[in-house]
Amino acid sequence: MSLSRRQFLGCSAACAVTAAISTDASSDADGKVKNLAMIHDETKCIGCRACEHACREVNHVPEGVSRLKLNIDGPFNADEDPYYRFSRDSCQHCQDAPCISVCPTGAAFRDKETGIVDVDPFKCVGCQYCIAACPYRVRFIHPVTKAADKCDFCRKTNLAEGRLPACVEACPTKALTFGDLNDPDSELAAILRHQRTERAKLDLGTNPKLFRIPSQKAGVL
Ligand code: SF4
Ligand code: SF4
Ligand code: SF4
Repeated sequence: MSLSRRQFLGCSAACAVTAAISTDASSDADGKVKNLAMIHDETKCIGCRACEHACREVNHVPEGVSRLKLNIDGPFNADEDPYYRFSRDSCQHCQDAPCISVCPTGAAFRDKETGIVDVDPFKCVGCQYCIAACPYRVRFIHPVTKAADKCDFCRKTNLAEGRLPACVEACPTKALTFGDLNDPDSELAAILRHQRTERAKLDLGTNPKLFRIPSQKAGVL
């Protein structure tokens, strides 16, 4: 997986154009603006890491850095009925994102059509202010582009092709749900209405859009 900086940035530019006409994840034909979000149902997660691998493959994320990290904690209750807990670290696509407000060049931005927080590598000067400002510690400097990078919900890859994020497509247990907070008829909105969900570090006022359905007891490996 050895894309040059030129290839990488060229892809970003081309894909960004395609993203504007995507049917699944940008504005609708009627121009309605989306506010895309994700739910990780930890009760359905089996810790297989297929999501991690798919993210790395689809978004050409080099070894040594990651846009998505799947945490496996445990075993708990090891002597009797051992079980593990699974959680996800990735960009929360905060509604009030400190990474955007500290960026001096406008490289960190929110996509108007989708609500996705993204990075323009052409504008990034690598100052790392955003990395310091992100309370979720999910940003890094990409070793090839030398620009800040993180999960973009596959805006420039799968979404640009009218597909779901790579992690969602790869998950064998349907533990990940992706959808539009502005669409009351979406599966995501229905889950949020009917199930108890949590978000990380709400007290910071970032208004994150990565939800989790916590498990009291999760699967065995
Ligand atoms: S999680 Fe971090 S990188 Fe993602 S939008 Fe929030 S502050 Fe920015
Ligand atoms: S590293 Fe890039 S995206 Fe982050 S604050 Fe600096 S210019 Fe903005
Ligand atoms: S692919 Fe699905 S089940 Fe596997 S670790 Fe990721 S979220 Fe969990």
